[in-house]
Order: sequence, then C-alpha cells, then structure tokens
Amino acid sequence: MAQQLSLRQKLEILADAAKYDASCASSGTAKKDSRGGKGVGSTEGMGICHAYAPDGRCISLLKILLTNHCIFDCHYCINRKSSNVRRARFTPQEVADLTLSFYKRNYIEGLFLSSGIVKSANHTMEQLIEAARILREEHDFRGYIHLKTIPEADAELIHEAGLYADRVSINVELPTDSGLTRLAPDKNARQIEGAMDRTKVRILQAKDERKRFRHAPRFAPAGQSTQMIVGADGASDVDIMGRASALYGNFGLRRVYYSAFSPIPDASAVLPLKRPPLIREHRLYQSDWLMRFYGYAPGEVAEAAEADGNLPLDIDPKLAWALKFRERFPVDVNRASREELLRVPGLGTKAVAKILAARRHRTLRLDDLARLTQSIAKVRPFLVAADWRPTRLTDRIDLRAMLAPKSEQLELF
Ligand code: SF4
Repeated sequence: MAQQLSLRQKLEILADAAKYDASCASSGTAKKDSRGGKGVGSTEGMGICHAYAPDGRCISLLKILLTNHCIFDCHYCINRKSSNVRRARFTPQEVADLTLSFYKRNYIEGLFLSSGIVKSANHTMEQLIEAARILREEHDFRGYIHLKTIPEADAELIHEAGLYADRVSINVELPTDSGLTRLAPDKNARQIEGAMDRTKVRILQAKDERKRFRHAPRFAPAGQSTQMIVGADGASDVDIMGRASALYGNFGLRRVYYSAFSPIPDASAVLPLKRPPLIREHRLYQSDWLMRFYGYAPGEVAEAAEADGNLPLDIDPKLAWALKFRERFPVDVNRASREELLRVPGLGTKAVAKILAARRHRTLRLDDLARLTQSIAKVRPFLVAADWRPTRLTDRIDLRAMLAPKSEQLELF
C-alpha cells in the first residue's frame, strides 16, 4: 500500500517513474534570486549540484511524479492503469518539503513535477497546484518550477498552475491524431490543443499586463512546452517535424521535446519491441534547431529526409539538405548573406556572426575560416574564400561518404 512506504521509498518510485518525461529544460525562465535575505532559491547560479533523478535528462531539477497511480491506460506508459508496477503517492506537502530540503543542500535548482491522473483530472491538478502554492506562498521559494498540466482539467486550474510555475507543459504525446487514438485512447488531441491555446492566450495577456502594471501577476514566464514520443507509432520524421512546426506556430511553444520511445516492462502488444535508435531523437532535435534558428521552413527540413520520410541517421539534416541541393553551393564567404551562410554545413550561428563581423574589416581566407569553425573539412566543399574555390569537390559523388562522421560521436552542425 502506498501509505506504508517511507518517504525514501516513495522518492525512489516516483523519481524513477518520472524519467520517461523529457520536457523539463529550464531555458528561458525569468531570472530570480534570493540575495539580500529575501525568500529561498534562485533560478540560476553557481554551486548548484547535479540532479537527483537516476537517469534524468534534466538533472538539475528534482524530477518527480506526484503519483504514478493513473486512471488512464496509455499503452506506451509504464504508469498506465493496467501496468503492474509498484505505486506510490506524495502529498503536496511532501513534495514541497523534499524540494526545499534538496534545494538547501544545493542538489537541485528547482522542481519538475508531473503526475499520473488520480481520481480525476481536476483532483490531480489541484494537488499539483497545492505543492507549488506551498513552495511559493509558504516558503517564498524562488527556484524554478515546471508543472506538467493535465489537459482534461478545468481551464481555471491550468490558469492557476501558471501563476505559480515558471513553465507549464502539456504533452501532445504522439505526433499524429491517429497514433494518439490508438495508443492513448483516453486522450483527445483537440482537448490537448485547446488547453495549449488557452495557455498561450494567458501567457500573452500576462506579458501585456506586466508591461502596463509592474505588479501584475506573472503567468508561466518561461512559457509552455510539450513532448512527443518518437518511435511508438508509425509516424515518420517528416510527420513529426510537421507537427512540431504547427505547434510552434499555433501555440507559441518555447520547446518541443522529442523522446525516443523506451520499451517498458509488460509492454502492450501494440507497441514495437525495440526502441528507435537514440540518434533519431538527436536528428529530430537538430531539425528542430534548423527551423527555429537557421531559417529553414518545415518543408525544407522535410526535403532532407529519405524516401521513407525519415532523416538519415549517418549525417545531420543540414548536411543532408546541402547534399541534395548542391546547386545552391558553394557560397562566397565574403559576399553571401547571413541566410546563405547559415545553410553551409559546419557553420553554426556563432560562426556566421563572427564571419559577418570579421569580413567588415578584411577579406576572409580559408585559414580565417579554420579559426572560426570547428570542422574546416566539412565547410570547404560548400564555401568560396579569397584563396579557396572547391571546383569539383562540391559535385563529387562520394562527398557524402567523405563528410559522414567516422565515429559514433554525436556532432553539432
Ligand atoms: S495519463 Fe499520463 S500517466 Fe496516465 S497512463 Fe497516460 S501517459 Fe501515463
């Protein structure tokens, strides 16, 4: 029985149960601290140690579930109703106490709190809010709080969550509506999007009010995010990037997280037996960056995919796109626009900024580029410099093989 478990046992169960959720990065939060003896905590700062969660992807937050009891039966989820796992449940007070005690020991910089649905969506949401309220109102906790919200809960409860949390998230779970219907039969894509839409409106309203009234309440100042599970249904990378792009555009999300599906004990027969390669998740994150920071339209990212709609795993999507559209290269490093330079494989946003700044003062040569980039070998086929022209290199049939990373190491652009 859950009530017979010690706090430590509950923590073991509920931290482990939370590890499947990837949507917990704290980027974009407002800076708050407790210097001057006011309150407790900080959203940033030195000396904060690493995370508690056993394999947590966001290890500087205490990442736990309020409970892993759930009345829903999502096939991909280890906490689903029909799953045979040890169950546990924290009270909101226990969540607040744990957060404070870990925080004061410098183990964490904040809390990521999610939950299975116990009794009802509204009841669960109330418990999540209560944990955040105790931290904020009773302890003046100024660390980061990310609350997972439950789309089936009343709009007013989701609104209340945003008043305490830095970030709220609502998981879309699966890239396609058909995947959601098949694998999470209790959930409804329109309900999820409706909750996201209301959250977007509230975030914008709060920002506007804060501009006009200094003391207007904050509402999820670090925005909202979501997570999609990759590889549990048949959705291709093109499907996933299309959905992600629509989510960014329609709901102003800060981040879409991609979580490679992990096979779970006693898995449902409708699930694949193997997890997708982790590199697939990495390629999706790279594509996401191409859309958000490199000016690629979703359709262009899709053009980097293979015939089956999936991104190549051996090379990054930016290189895949450049190899398909070689007629766009080489570009002249001394004349090309920022947008053109951002398309060059091997050039990141910082390198492009440095190139634009440097070329105001001198004509750039290959040596200059070697100093500004991490991999001159990757850049050379796609650029012209004062003393360099790739001539036939850009069109070589074996260029892909020449540029594909030789090791398993994950590369950036
Ligand atoms: S509602 Fe959440 S916790 Fe419950 S089974 Fe579905 S994914 Fe798991």
